[in-house]
Amino acid sequence: MTSAIPLSFPDITDAEIQAVVRTLRSGRLSIGQEQEEFERLVALRAHRSYGIAVNSGTSALHLTLLALGIGPGDEVITPAFSFVASANCVEYVGAKPVFVDCDPRTLNMKTSEVDRKITEKTKAIIGVEVFGNPSGMDQLAALSTKYEIPLIEDACEALGGRVGNEPVGAFGRIAVFGFYPNKQITTGEGGMIVTDDDHIADICRSLRNHGRPSETMEAGSGMGSWLDHQQLGFNYRMSEIAAALGVAQMRRLDELIDARQTIAEAYTRRLMGNPELIIPSVEPNTHMSWFVYVVRLSDHFTPDDRDEIIAGLRRHELGTSNYFPPIPLMNYYRRKYGFGVDDFPIAHSVGGRTIALPFFSRMTEREVDLVCQTLELMMTRVRFVRD
Ligand SMILES: *Cc1c(COP(=O)(O)O)cnc(C)c1O
Repeated sequence: MTSAIPLSFPDITDAEIQAVVRTLRSGRLSIGQEQEEFERLVALRAHRSYGIAVNSGTSALHLTLLALGIGPGDEVITPAFSFVASANCVEYVGAKPVFVDCDPRTLNMKTSEVDRKITEKTKAIIGVEVFGNPSGMDQLAALSTKYEIPLIEDACEALGGRVGNEPVGAFGRIAVFGFYPNKQITTGEGGMIVTDDDHIADICRSLRNHGRPSETMEAGSGMGSWLDHQQLGFNYRMSEIAAALGVAQMRRLDELIDARQTIAEAYTRRLMGNPELIIPSVEPNTHMSWFVYVVRLSDHFTPDDRDEIIAGLRRHELGTSNYFPPIPLMNYYRRKYGFGVDDFPIAHSVGGRTIALPFFSRMTEREVDLVCQTLELMMTRVRFVRD
């Protein structure tokens, strides 16, 4: 008899519950001190001057591109292997996503290919720390400086990580976090923009709130009128309820990250001897903040084998997923730009063989063991049926 093990599970304690209840009782449910405190804590962690809380990581990316003035006719470099939001935001502003294939080890964008794809139309580079691995972000930052093209660090999967002494969120002109329930910390739904650029911070603060002049904008300043004339605002605000949850989670960030690290190490210990599996690798000098634990099947397995293994694990009530199908090969992008599998050979090959295993801070070693045992059983079964 097995009990269900989900793919992810948020780590909510009494501290979070009390923070939310306190906020509900306070009568102040939007634009208040919880938001301010949450922004302060995240900005501090990322060594940034400003944090701007919004209602999702995707909204944060959208505002970031608008604040940089990116629109039709512009190109934005973005990973082929990532969560779809890191490309969709480029479509929202009418610019063209220029996809870059991934490095087969780190799964992050190949820096050399980013360099090759920069043109005079390139207005930004979106760098993603895929699965929480920040390696290569320093190289993207160097490239961004060399060409004077702003780097947007999509750090939605990597809060709490580091490259050397530099925290995730400190690279590039702007960084963005997301707080969906499967991330390192959650606000239910939510996101945050962090930056040192006060002009960009002001624009983002205004755009999340219908384009109203933000509290820090001086009346009659040039920017106020720029917004009046050019900018359509949104309601991308985060509620005080969500922000209170975020504050309580931020206070536990190190505890949450350490717990995730322990689970990741248990998986690695258990699976590293299996020659048919490629397990996540962490580069020297980088401190990974584990978002998910994703293994790859060796090339003895086809994408159909992978899907069958996932189906088998799910039959055993083990939450698994195929993170990530390459974005340019998704229907919307394929139809619009006519990409084929040969355009992104690594993302295509990796994307056909990944399995995200159950991964959350409160997993037990026994659960890790059960997942690994079932995974290996399904791998054997698939090959036995086929051969
Ligand atoms: C989670 C995530 C986002 C933001 O997702 P939301 O659901 O909008 O909060 C953006 N980019 C990446 C790479 C992500 O993993």
